[in-house]
Amino acid sequence: MKPQSGAERGCSNIVDKNLPANCHAVVLEQFNRPMQVQSVKMPESIAPGAILVKIEVASICGTDVHLYEGDLSAVIKSNLPIIPGHEMVGRIVTLGEGVTRDSTGEELKLGDRILWEHAACGACHYCQVLKEPTLCKNRTIYGMAECCNDSPYLLGGFSEYCYVLPKSGRVKVPDEVKSEWASSVGCALRTVMKGFDRLAHAGDIKFTDTVLIQGSGPLGLYAIAVASAKSPKEIIVVGGPENRLNVAKSWGATKVVSVDELPDADSRVKRVMEMTNGRGADVIFEMSGAPGAFAEGIEMIAVNGRYVIVGPTGGPKTPIPVELITKKNIDIIGSWSAGIEHYYKGLQFVKQHRDKINFDLLFTNKYTFKDINKAIQNMKSAKDIKPLLFPE
Ligand SMILES: [Zn+2]
Ligand SMILES: [Zn+2]
Repeated sequence: MKPQSGAERGCSNIVDKNLPANCHAVVLEQFNRPMQVQSVKMPESIAPGAILVKIEVASICGTDVHLYEGDLSAVIKSNLPIIPGHEMVGRIVTLGEGVTRDSTGEELKLGDRILWEHAACGACHYCQVLKEPTLCKNRTIYGMAECCNDSPYLLGGFSEYCYVLPKSGRVKVPDEVKSEWASSVGCALRTVMKGFDRLAHAGDIKFTDTVLIQGSGPLGLYAIAVASAKSPKEIIVVGGPENRLNVAKSWGATKVVSVDELPDADSRVKRVMEMTNGRGADVIFEMSGAPGAFAEGIEMIAVNGRYVIVGPTGGPKTPIPVELITKKNIDIIGSWSAGIEHYYKGLQFVKQHRDKINFDLLFTNKYTFKDINKAIQNMKSAKDIKPLLFPE
């Protein structure tokens, strides 16, 4: 089955007459070339089941850097020019016919803030038989693939407005959750929530477990926060630089291993073994995507360990000591993307833990659209943890 075309998306409802005919958006015309703010067409109409939102704020994900550099081409075909951005929160300005509630049954009305998922086809083997729409090969993916010259034009987050497709699950943002926090749920935390759901199949975190998180970027930090809420014996983070490790400690890491202090893998494995009385960690989350991190984690994991792999999405092939998987009786669990239930769980997690966890520590800088290229560079260099992007 082919991805949905603009015509198949079936635009029918009339857009509010008070809305402009065009809006501003960041546009990626060529990989590795500076992005620019351009005027982009607004959709002429809103299909039944679709929603038009005004973007409150977007946040930058590591994947945006890979997209910008053209490194996603093996996974996703980007039909340039596109509007990047897949982590964002929008406020409803037009509801398509028939939209009265979100995917959880909560009432939706104009002015509500929502998050929404990539649009799976709902008709393929992955959608119908496996019930895994996040693995659907026909998904319409916001902010990475769809050409902004084709109707409905606005399928990226770095834009004043965004079009929420009828097949995208959507969830209302609770009043207690700030838009900045909600935006980061839209890729980072929902991905983490799915990783924890996948872990639960092999055995959830117990209070006697030592949990180890590889990586202290947004995924790793959120994994620390979620693991901490499950009260394990220890949470060790392997990451850097120092500002990120400080957030890690604030969010629940009990021990840190700095990759700046210990740049070689063998010394990090030795340190983790010392920290765990020679046993290793019972649960590991690979959230870094760094080449070699998986092989390193196999050395650090305990007998009967559960190893959840979320970070790697590409990069060079690296050797793995496969025999340790056998000898240590390890469960290896992959986890790809996430569905609307994980957006919901992420928002609930933030709402319920906002008094204990200072989520603002994630957001190191604010930018407007015109500074997008600087923001991307500061994400790439790890100067920022999670840059926020506002229309102006
Ligand atoms: Zn992302
Ligand atoms: Zn499908």
